[in-house]
Amino acid sequence: MNIKPEEITSIIKKQIEGYENKVESVDSGTIIQVGDGIARVYGLENCMAGELLEFPNNVYGMVMNLEQDNVGCVLLGDEEGIKEEDVVKSTGRVVEVPVGEEMIGRVVNGLGISIDGKGPIRTSETRPAETIAHGVIERKSVNEPLQTGIKAIDSMIPIGRGQRELIIGDRQTGKTAIAIDTIINQKGKDVICIYVAIGQKQSTVAHIYNTFTQKGAMDYSIIVSASASDAAPLQFLAPYTGVTIGEYFMDQGKDVLIVYDDLSKHAVAYRTMSLLLRRPPAREAYPGDVFYLHSRLLERAAKLSDKLGGGSITALPIIETLAGDVTAYIPTNVISITDGQIFLESELFFAGQRPAVNSGISVSRVGGSAQIKAMKQVSGTLRLELAQYRELAAFAQFGSDLDKESKKRLEKGKRLLEIFKQDQYQPVSVEKQVIIIYACVEEYLMDIEVSKIKEFEKGLLDYMDTHHKEVGEAILTKKALDDELKKDLNSAIEEYKKVFLAEV
Ligand code: ATP
Ligand code: MG
Repeated sequence: MNIKPEEITSIIKKQIEGYENKVESVDSGTIIQVGDGIARVYGLENCMAGELLEFPNNVYGMVMNLEQDNVGCVLLGDEEGIKEEDVVKSTGRVVEVPVGEEMIGRVVNGLGISIDGKGPIRTSETRPAETIAHGVIERKSVNEPLQTGIKAIDSMIPIGRGQRELIIGDRQTGKTAIAIDTIINQKGKDVICIYVAIGQKQSTVAHIYNTFTQKGAMDYSIIVSASASDAAPLQFLAPYTGVTIGEYFMDQGKDVLIVYDDLSKHAVAYRTMSLLLRRPPAREAYPGDVFYLHSRLLERAAKLSDKLGGGSITALPIIETLAGDVTAYIPTNVISITDGQIFLESELFFAGQRPAVNSGISVSRVGGSAQIKAMKQVSGTLRLELAQYRELAAFAQFGSDLDKESKKRLEKGKRLLEIFKQDQYQPVSVEKQVIIIYACVEEYLMDIEVSKIKEFEKGLLDYMDTHHKEVGEAILTKKALDDELKKDLNSAIEEYKKVFLAEV
């Protein structure tokens, strides 16, 4: 930063003039430099970090750097018309976000201001965007499942309410699709969903809004959008705004699901701001506190204790990797902050295995305790079976002769993977997941051709719906598969299999 000598003399002169009557200079300052969405302001002596400053033309700025003789701040609006020597007023407030029931069904920007053309949102309350997360004493462990409606995830990588589960993968591997399906699946489940879009195209966000509206998901959802064309500070603030809106509902004892799509772009926005503010760059040119950037955000996801109402925020952050490299700086950071990750692979995606979940390296560290027992019973061996399948499949490529046992494993694995293929916007309820996975695990599908598995699945679930509705209901009420229920399941599956095989 180069300050011209004449500026320094004028500042010193002003200081000498104001030496006796200090009152004036307390809450207003002058701009000494402005550009690239950054302003340096001199004279704000009692300024706080994160404080809002009022610039001319109704533009606000947020204080980022407190330096010896000036403060560096980012502008939260258009910098046109703001010039050096302009007067800046401090507000004594930090960045605040409107919160309340009125936010539901709306699309807002990174500051919580409506951008859906439906007029301003009149909430009675605002909250600071940055708050300290709940401590350990105020929390309890997750005990209720958050059903994604995606078979591969609910069975092998279960998510509990209050958990933080990372969705990670290369570009175009279906990361957003998983988050969107999860939100759509929350219909009628008393979960308020917040989708935070960071650095995405406006058209993508509009598309998501339309999908939500069509599927009736906007009735319980909020979209916070800071698109690629928005200034970096708005992209930086968007996730904090989203979680602040979520905390309002959590404090009322409600369950909230928040998706951050995606935190890679969030880190890039923060890097842009930091470099412009001349903070020293560290690894990959990110500032040294980029870990804290994401940890203080994700720590705010919680399952609150009964004393505090038992509300929860489940967070699904998304990270984009380059060529599957999970060891890059930002991916490793976020992996270490979250309670597990769903790893998506391009190779699987292009091979038609969609959702492209790699079950080998995907984990959920806490969600298992929230799964219903019936699901635990049928899914217990899935990971192992798929691991064995992968090993054998690699081996079988060489055309070597396999023994009978190995052949069977190979065939079973193929059928399992077929079951895990699932189209977008087709969430499956938990009892239906249990039924179809049970059929596969108990080897009822072994004599059905792999290419016919999808057809069989659809037929079986429809058949169960029309002829054996009580079985699905029993799974939901008993929550576990006892001998009686297993018998009913077995006979129902046998019954439909006869019908199916006769048709074929
Ligand atoms: P980006 O890196 O661009 O954000 P992404 O990883 O979020 O991409 P999506 O946009 O969710 O990926 O999906 C990429 C494409 O794959 C989309 O066209 C989507 O419709 C399709 N797709 C995603 N999941 C499925 C699925 N289960 N079945 C069929 N198509 C899918
Ligand atoms: Mg995406």
